[in-house]
Amino acid sequence: MFSTTVIRSGNGVIEVREEKISGLRCKISPERIHRRLDADYISLPGEVPCPFCQEKVEQVTPTFADGTRIRVGESLTFPNLFPFAEWHTVTVITRDHMVSEFEPRQLQDAFRGQIISLSRSEGYPSLNWNYLTSAGASIVHPHLQGMVDRRPSALAERYMKGSYQYLMRHGRSYWDDLLEKERQSERYLFGDEIIWIAQAVPLGEREIRAVLPVSGLDDFEPYLDTFIEGLLSVIAMYRSLSTHAYNMSLFFDRRNSSRGFSAFCSIISRMNPNASSLSDTAFMERLHLEPVILTLPEELAAYYRQGTG
Ligand SMILES: [Zn+2]
Repeated sequence: MFSTTVIRSGNGVIEVREEKISGLRCKISPERIHRRLDADYISLPGEVPCPFCQEKVEQVTPTFADGTRIRVGESLTFPNLFPFAEWHTVTVITRDHMVSEFEPRQLQDAFRGQIISLSRSEGYPSLNWNYLTSAGASIVHPHLQGMVDRRPSALAERYMKGSYQYLMRHGRSYWDDLLEKERQSERYLFGDEIIWIAQAVPLGEREIRAVLPVSGLDDFEPYLDTFIEGLLSVIAMYRSLSTHAYNMSLFFDRRNSSRGFSAFCSIISRMNPNASSLSDTAFMERLHLEPVILTLPEELAAYYRQGTG
């Protein structure tokens, strides 16, 4: 399922790994952890007023076309004011601006709100989370983001194409074969219906993946509580490794598709060398492998041509 090339360099060993289905590569250099770049998260006192706090959220956030927002428990879901997907919604998870630990109920409700909002659109859904500013969250108040596009994002598309080719070539699901191997491997964490593993060819630091027994969003809800239980235990492990910030993306195939794809969730921990600063990379750059760009290249060139001094 992946290949490893071991290279000796300096005092250590570098592993170059390549995953066959996706063609993704990474370099693993365990010596570099000794740089100790991780730092404790420091919450900033002066970041009010927050648009997601209770007194503001219903005044400053948009509503759906019928004038409503989706309320599930204490979570609130509404359209993203600055969308970068054809259908892009935000779910404020908690009433509180910061929580020390999420309760299962809080995440179940927030994910349920997302499932409702994502079901309202046709295409390829994903459910995403940037937690804390060093993971690229521009607002600290915990919130999820859901997207549906007519084409899957770069990473999901690689796996969808790879899964289909694998199914055609072998007559079996890639994911069934992967899990059969990974269940016996040193990368297995826990789970039976949903399998949680340390990703062999990680996209980011301490990447954990959960492979779901479904491919589309419509079949996800029966597994939601089990999924949240697993997610919380991964977050707890990150915290015990003194990493507080993380990105999460959960990728689904489109409705009624049976092309050998299994929905999966990827979570990476983010190092906090500057715990109070805002990173310019978030789940799109790190997990979807599709950067969100703010400046039109043509406008940039026009700006240059006009003379910058
Ligand atoms: Zn807030």
